[in-house]
Amino acid sequence: LFVESPLREAARIALDRGQANYLLNVLRLKAGDAVLIFNGQDGEWRAEVSVEGRKAADLVCQERTREQTAPPDLVYAFAPLKHARLDYMVQKAVEMGAGILQPVVTRRTQSTRVNLERMRSNAIEAAEQCGILAIPEVRPEQDLEKYISGLENDRVVVFCDEDAPVSNPFKALSSFGNNIPKLAVVVGPEGGFTDQERALVAAHDSCVRISLGPRILRADTAAVAALAVVQSALGD
Ligand code: SAM
Repeated sequence: LFVESPLREAARIALDRGQANYLLNVLRLKAGDAVLIFNGQDGEWRAEVSVEGRKAADLVCQERTREQTAPPDLVYAFAPLKHARLDYMVQKAVEMGAGILQPVVTRRTQSTRVNLERMRSNAIEAAEQCGILAIPEVRPEQDLEKYISGLENDRVVVFCDEDAPVSNPFKALSSFGNNIPKLAVVVGPEGGFTDQERALVAAHDSCVRISLGPRILRADTAAVAALAVVQSALGD
């Protein structure tokens, strides 16, 4: 369970109504039952439920069960989609190991207004679900050109391009051997990149263009496919 308070031995964590309801009425936990909690900074703690009446509950920290880990330095840069699909895309990107979520606005981006708070809560929900302790960083949206030109030189762009030759993307990615570089996986909008945008991304100092197969994937499907390829090729 994600909590926003600092975690240390014997710390008492007041839960909000939604969290208390989830523990007491959905999980049917009782006083003294244990819950694993994290806040994204202090590692994972075992805490015990201390109930104050039917609707309120506090947790009392007992012991740290896992040390804090840093978020993976893997950027997932994507053209924002409309609500429900963006929620899905954010959750899948987090489950698939993205540590930084970077919305990029392209000429055919469907929705340029990005609700960062909503993205952050989806990222937290995904972290709770897949048991990662580091909450991915959700960055404010940037224009694609600005983002690519501002990239660190040592960050490799993995450009998911449906026009790339259908070849084995692992070959393109595993050329790094063991010194895995910092990566930014870039996926375009539903309407695709314009030719200019494609040329711009491909012109980045180090850009690996990969095909995700002979079919055109929806942008949220491409998120899962691209990150699955990257994770399996780079093995972490
Ligand atoms: N240009 C496509 C069309 O004409 O329908 C639309 C783009 S597709 C829906 C959204 C994004 O997913 C693309 O910009 C690309 O980044 C990624 N994508 C989709 N299919 C892909 C594939 N087979 N290989 C690599 N990337 C793909």
